[in-house]
Amino acid sequence: MAVSYQDYYEILGVPRDASAKDIKAAYRQLARKWHPDLHTGKKKAEAEEKLKRINEAYEVLKDSEKRAKYDQLGKNWQQTGPGFSSYGDGVQFYQSDSINPEDLGGFSDFFNSIFGGQARGHSSPFTDYARPGQDVETNLELSLEELFRGGSKSIRLSSRQICPECQGQGTQGHSFCSRCGGTGSLPDEKTLDVKIPVGVHEGSTIRLKGQGGLGLGGGRPGDLYLKVVLLPHPKFKVKGHDLEAKITLRPEQAVLGDKVIVPTMDGSVTVTIPPDSRHGSRLRLKDKGLPLKKSGRGHQYVVIEIDIPRDLTEEETALYRKLKEARESRDK
Ligand SMILES: [Zn+2]
Repeated sequence: MAVSYQDYYEILGVPRDASAKDIKAAYRQLARKWHPDLHTGKKKAEAEEKLKRINEAYEVLKDSEKRAKYDQLGKNWQQTGPGFSSYGDGVQFYQSDSINPEDLGGFSDFFNSIFGGQARGHSSPFTDYARPGQDVETNLELSLEELFRGGSKSIRLSSRQICPECQGQGTQGHSFCSRCGGTGSLPDEKTLDVKIPVGVHEGSTIRLKGQGGLGLGGGRPGDLYLKVVLLPHPKFKVKGHDLEAKITLRPEQAVLGDKVIVPTMDGSVTVTIPPDSRHGSRLRLKDKGLPLKKSGRGHQYVVIEIDIPRDLTEEETALYRKLKEARESRDK
């Protein structure tokens, strides 16, 4: 939202060094001139608009504190003003959800962005910039074991802390805080203990309310969104809540069937391989996958691969030869 600068002196037609008395006189004269009751038709709407601007200008210039603040912001108010985003991204200005427009009496966005808090009746002149902090998104890297066990994990995040010099106001007296340059915050790092909810999986998002960007001028902080990213595991592939592990069988195991040891998240288990198992076939180990959100678990799949043994003994080689001859004589 673009907010245009309002030249209150120009609106009232007074010089920038006008006295309070001159300002009052100029206001009275203009307010009389543009009183909507004195106009009709199109002129009336124009008069209403003019009077609004005149009232706004007078609202600021009649009050020495507001006037000082306005003067100090100057035409460069948007580049340097404390209302500017502390995260320096393209978010230009004021978020209207932090203010009740009904309380503003039709003031311009410019006025609201500088004096919005006051128009709402806040006691401190420096809560005027109240705007909520930004939502922050980052990855939460978890090993499969961390995700399986749940519990909590400590993470370090770069963040911002309230500027201790100006207590987050961005101003000292009538000038910008020199320590934080008017942003009200300084770069910082924070450690968070993140509870890993049961049932999250790769791609899940964990929302931590109020752990995002700092609000300015008393605005509420944003939220932190953590996207779960699983680190690669040497034994398991993860598909949602299901796990997949490969086992390698020798030809005779696949042909005759066998019992083999298979790793699971609960430790090793013995799995019966049925006779005539094919390369690439899958066995399902029920409820050996990752925890589901409410109750129960996903499954683990065992993918069969067949490989030929190396370093055959003479006896084994002789048996393979015999096997070959048997198949050849059968096919004759
Ligand atoms: Zn500061």
